Amino acid sequence: MIKSPNLPGYLDYRPDGRYLRVWCAWCVEWHCCRAGDLRPAHITHTVGQCYAPDSPYRAGYGITVSLAPFDAVVRSVREATAADRKAIVAGRIDPAIAALRAQRPREELML
Ligand SMILES: [Zn+2]
Repeated sequence: MIKSPNLPGYLDYRPDGRYLRVWCAWCVEWHCCRAGDLRPAHITHTVGQCYAPDSPYRAGYGITVSLAPFDAVVRSVREATAADRKAIVAGRIDPAIAALRAQRPREELML
């Protein structure tokens, strides 16, 4: 049995409710699901929402809710463009896509 990865999730407070955002380094985008009653330090699990055919997260993954809110990390990574997504779906992982995939969210000072 393969142990599923555990990724940090960030609470995103929106007018229509709270969401949990998880950075997927394989799809190079923020996956999103309803946060329900989740609070920082809670651990949850989700099914994969990945479009990247080579993503190991497609089988699902664990999420640990971070103390940092989504607003504090969202600008620390750059999501794939439509063209990048086409390349990822086609399995064309060139150095530019590899660099996007190497990004990891980090907490930034909110000024
Ligand atoms: Zn993904």
